[in-house]
This record gives sequence, C-alpha cells and structure tokens, in this order.
Amino acid sequence: MGSGTDQLTEQSVCESVCLDDLVEVTAHLERRHARFAFDVARLADAGEWAVDGSLSMAIWLQQHCRMSHRDATRLLIEGRFLNRYDAVRDAAFSGSLSASQVSALRNVVTKPTAVLFGQHQHGLVNAFRHLDPVTTERACQSWRAKAEAVADMPVPKLPDRSWTSSRLADGTMVGRFVLDPAAATELETALQTARTFDGAGDDRPHGVRNADAATEIIAFFNANHDGDGTPRHRPHVALYVQSDDLNNLGGGHAVTDDGHLLPTWATDAYLCDCVIHRVLRTAATITDYGRSIRSVPPQLFRAVADRDRGCRFTGCTRKIAWCDAHHVQWWRRNGETKLDNLVLLCSRHHHLIHRPGWTLQLDPNGDLHITNHLGHTSTTHPYTYPATGPPGHGPPS
Ligand SMILES: [Zn+2]
Ligand SMILES: [Zn+2]
Repeated sequence: MGSGTDQLTEQSVCESVCLDDLVEVTAHLERRHARFAFDVARLADAGEWAVDGSLSMAIWLQQHCRMSHRDATRLLIEGRFLNRYDAVRDAAFSGSLSASQVSALRNVVTKPTAVLFGQHQHGLVNAFRHLDPVTTERACQSWRAKAEAVADMPVPKLPDRSWTSSRLADGTMVGRFVLDPAAATELETALQTARTFDGAGDDRPHGVRNADAATEIIAFFNANHDGDGTPRHRPHVALYVQSDDLNNLGGGHAVTDDGHLLPTWATDAYLCDCVIHRVLRTAATITDYGRSIRSVPPQLFRAVADRDRGCRFTGCTRKIAWCDAHHVQWWRRNGETKLDNLVLLCSRHHHLIHRPGWTLQLDPNGDLHITNHLGHTSTTHPYTYPATGPPGHGPPS
C-alpha cells in the first residue's frame, strides 16, 4: 500500500473521489494521520499544553480542537505507540503497513509483552507488510499468545470488587462490575424485590427488567438516604433548564451537572416533583438569584401520600418511599400544584407515563384513569383503610 501516493495533493484529497481513487486517497490519509498522531504525542510530551491551564493534552485538544475526550485519548494512544516503536512508525509513515495493520500490532502490546515487542518489531513489520488485515490480525494474536507464554505473566486475578462505568455520546452509561459474594447476594435480593412484571402486555426481556429494577433501587436510595438533605429535599440530581423551556409546551431539555442532555419526557418527570432554584444570567454573568421553591411542598406531599399510600399505577405495589408526586396536568403545562392534580407514582411508572401516548385523568373522588399508548384505559382507586389485612389499592377496573 502507498505506492504513488506522493503525487496526491491536498486539493485532490479535498475533491470528490471516485472508486478508482480510493486506494490512493486512503493510503495518503492514513500516512497523514500517522504523522499527525505522532506529532500530537510529541507535543503532549513537550508539555506546552499546560500554559493555558489545561490539565492534560487530551483536555487541551477538547478545548481547542473541538475533539471529544474519547477521540483525543485515542489519538494520543496511537501517537505514543508510534513514538515508542520506530520500526512501526517508519512503516506507518511510508504506508508499508496500513492503519488497520498498525492497530492490530498496537493491540498485542501489553505490559508483559512490551519489551519483547520492542525486540521483535522489525521482524514483525517485515513479515506483515505483504499480509492482508485479517491474516495480520491472526498472526498478531498468535505472536501475543507466544509472547505471553514466555513473559513472566502474573497470575490473572480479578479484583475483589470494582465498578467502572463511562458515558456514551448519547448519555447512556455502560460499565462492568465485580462484587464479592456477600455484595452479590445483596444485589440479587434487591433486584428480585425491585423487579416488576406488568402483566400479559409486559414483554420486557429479563435484562431490561433488571435494568429497570436497578434504576428504582438507585432512585429509592437517592430519595431516602441519611446524607445531606432530607428525603423530600432531594438534592441528589441537579438539572439545568432554561426559563423559556420551563413553559415551553413543545418540550425543552434539561442538562445535567456533567453536561448530558436529558430527553424531554425525563425532564418533565423531574419537574413534577423537585426543588427549583431561580438564577438570572446576562450572558455568562449571574445577575440575580432567588430562594428555592419546591414544586410540591412537603405538607402537600404528605396529603397526597395519605390518600394514595403508594404508586397509583395499575397493579403496582410500590410504597410511598419509592414514589414521586406526579402532576396529572403536567407542571410544564401549567398544571396546578394541588391535591386534586397530584398522584403518587413510583420512579419507573412516573417516567413511563411521561412518555408520548400516555394520558392520566384524576376524578374528584381520587379515582385515577390511566390510558396507555395503545388506547387501553384502566382505573385505580385511592387507598382505603381496611378493617383487617394488608394495605393496598382497590383493584383495577
Ligand atoms: Zn410527572
Ligand atoms: Zn409504580
């Protein structure tokens, strides 16, 4: 790969390419990218990025080059690899190895194999320059297995416990955890308790039900812990909403402390039952701020809790501690904060009914009519104190 690419000019790269050009353009861009990554790693080592107060080269790239942290980190990893291994660097600069082949080589370098790779790099580059990427990948895996066999590898040991997670671009969290046997039992018991089954129409796979249960457990802890703030003050999730969006019936997103956008339906669910702080800004300057107000004052929440005693969703048995107060006519739609416009809903059902297609109607006698996205309506009744037996809602009708 790479022969004849030197004639390629910047202009020809920027023009539309046809299929016949792809080989040359790809080789050209890969060589340019390798050089670029190498230079970025060199600049990272030079440390000039700290002059403007940046905490790392990756952060400097984020701020000045509009690069995500993930892309900046990957670029630095690529550059440092080329910086460390000269034979691979020369092959990447000349195009005798493709970017995919360089990437395959990078993946075989681990702490135990790094020294051996440095000794073998020239031979590996020579052996791989005429291979296709799939064969290169296999050869790399084979080299790594042999290298690890002769390296003084520590016996792999899982940590006793760990929890690592990261956010994807859309705000979704992915992660991996290791729990000791006692914690695993606690978790399984809690998941079992929090897992719900909403009847015949509930086709959520087991994994989704577990995720919903975990969300409820976390929301329960946030609403009921003994740390800073009282359960009803709920300082655990801070969201920022533009004042124009508060009354914007068409929606409007909230932004979390760490900059993730929440969808409109989740924003509406939080607005139903939260503490609101008013802050006035002119451009970046805060010009005024007001006292905080609660969208549902504690006394009113108590009254709603007294009437409902738990989640009002059909068939749900979640108790008060699991619940938010939901504005039947939504808060953002100027719904009033009063007893006959509020019902208790557990976290999962609260977020569910804020999704498109769901409507709720609360009668003066406290009966709640829930119409789902398929048009089916069911009704639940306020709590009645039974003479005997466990507390519960009237059956759905
Ligand atoms: Zn709500
Ligand atoms: Zn519920």
